[in-house]
Amino acid sequence: MTSNIHKLLTELGVNLADYQGNDIPSTSPINGLLLASLRADTEEQVKQKIDRAHAAFLEWRKVPAPRRGELIRLFGEELRTHKAALGQIVTLEAGKILQEGLGEVQEMIDICDFAVGLSRQLYGLTIASERPGHRMMEVWHPIGVVGVISAFNFPVAVWAWNAALAFVCGNSVTWKPSEKTPLTAVATHALFMKAVARFNSTSATGNDAPEGLAELIIGARDTGAQMVEDKRVALVSATGSTRMGRQVAEVCAKRLTRTILELGGNNAMIVAPSADLEMAVRAITFSAVGTAGQRCTTLRRLFVHDSIYDTLVPRLKKIYKALPIGNPLEKSTLIGPLVDQAAYEAMQTALTAAKAEQGKVFGGERVVVAGAESGYYVRPSIVEMSSQTAHMHHEVFAPIMYVVRYTDLQQAIDWNNEVPQGLSSSIFTTDMREAELFMSDVGSDCGIANVNIGPSGAEIGGAFGGEKDTGGGRESGSDAWKAYMRRSTNTVNYSHSLPLAQGISFDI
Ligand code: NAD
Repeated sequence: MTSNIHKLLTELGVNLADYQGNDIPSTSPINGLLLASLRADTEEQVKQKIDRAHAAFLEWRKVPAPRRGELIRLFGEELRTHKAALGQIVTLEAGKILQEGLGEVQEMIDICDFAVGLSRQLYGLTIASERPGHRMMEVWHPIGVVGVISAFNFPVAVWAWNAALAFVCGNSVTWKPSEKTPLTAVATHALFMKAVARFNSTSATGNDAPEGLAELIIGARDTGAQMVEDKRVALVSATGSTRMGRQVAEVCAKRLTRTILELGGNNAMIVAPSADLEMAVRAITFSAVGTAGQRCTTLRRLFVHDSIYDTLVPRLKKIYKALPIGNPLEKSTLIGPLVDQAAYEAMQTALTAAKAEQGKVFGGERVVVAGAESGYYVRPSIVEMSSQTAHMHHEVFAPIMYVVRYTDLQQAIDWNNEVPQGLSSSIFTTDMREAELFMSDVGSDCGIANVNIGPSGAEIGGAFGGEKDTGGGRESGSDAWKAYMRRSTNTVNYSHSLPLAQGISFDI
């Protein structure tokens, strides 16, 4: 496996010797074996990288936005060419099944396509002025260095969501990836640098991508913290746990800088009496067990109407019993490993707590996979609860789905909203009134509220993010790009007099 990852990295243009050291071990969740060990950037190196990124921003902002889009178009081409290799590296280092590793790279390609179009559409408004002979308008400008912090479970797509938009908006990007998945970051960085080289070879002087436009910072939390504290980082986009988000938010609030926070979720689905159960079963299974329950949008709480509970829940258990658990590189596998021992232990602690609250636990046991005995593989768990308890308010980053019976839709919506997180939610119903209520002002309080699809697996075209402890940030599609720019309101007087706003008279 080690030789395989080295081969894949070389194929993408990585010289591993440039990164090797003794600080950041990258182990594969597949079998717990060391893939490579990297050195962390020193304080001085982090500072130098931010220096370079800041200098790059001052040049890059002058390049016309559609030309900036050309760089992202070329990066999208590199991703298309190397999708198979990068997808495999994601699987080897993050442990998600190959289909999902490839899907993650596809998500990067999709956001590149979106950003290329966006590069010709960074438009502002013209606003009616109250003064005669005046024009008022709103213009969007690049903001500066964007510092991206990413989590292990989407080791490359999250950077791309941020970076593709940040670059076309005229910013430079410094990236501190998860210490659990540094190799995927190194590989992605190499692909981006290939695109930069092609871009610069076709560029007129002054229109090229400057050195330092994309800086990769390797390290653990303290390295991320140093990047967050640096005043030259104008926007911090941080994806990870709510604990991390609170720390980042505090530092950024102190120095009054902007953040995009994409934090933990605790996502629910309501299955109503009129639901198409065939569709619901597939959506529940993918949302609850996909990526071994390690998505921020994983389905963690299922509220099933009393009238269909005894049909649906036994069916889910039957499916759970037969789920193919194993090496994520194998085609037949649907459930790969948890990221590490700590994730396994957190899952077992949560199951013990559920039992103490009279929860009926199905599955959840460790599964030994031949040839990968040191990997932490588990059977996804269904936990039947008589009501929503305090334990269910916490996100446990593992495949545990709590199931609760409901009779009154309002009760189910209240449970949906009762938890501190507010990322994703969904309802399965064919009753138009229930669907509309769920999406209305008094329905789900989450950033994502779906009807007849599960809570996980968002498309890049919509703004992605959630409320409350999820952090309130929005990334990806819709008008999320505005967070990566600063807005300037311009009023132009083309008359020969100087009327003041609000009709104020100020004669001198
Ligand atoms: P984590 O919080 O442990 O780490 C995430 C990143 O933050 C890492 O790069 C880490 O080094 C860095 N970090 C931690 N503390 C920091 C600090 N004080 N200052 C600066 N950087 C710091 O999260 P994880 O275990 O890698 O990922 C799982 C979590 O991420 C889950 O809670 C999941 O829901 C969440 N997540 C959210 C989204 C989303 O879009 N909402 C997407 C993916 C994952």
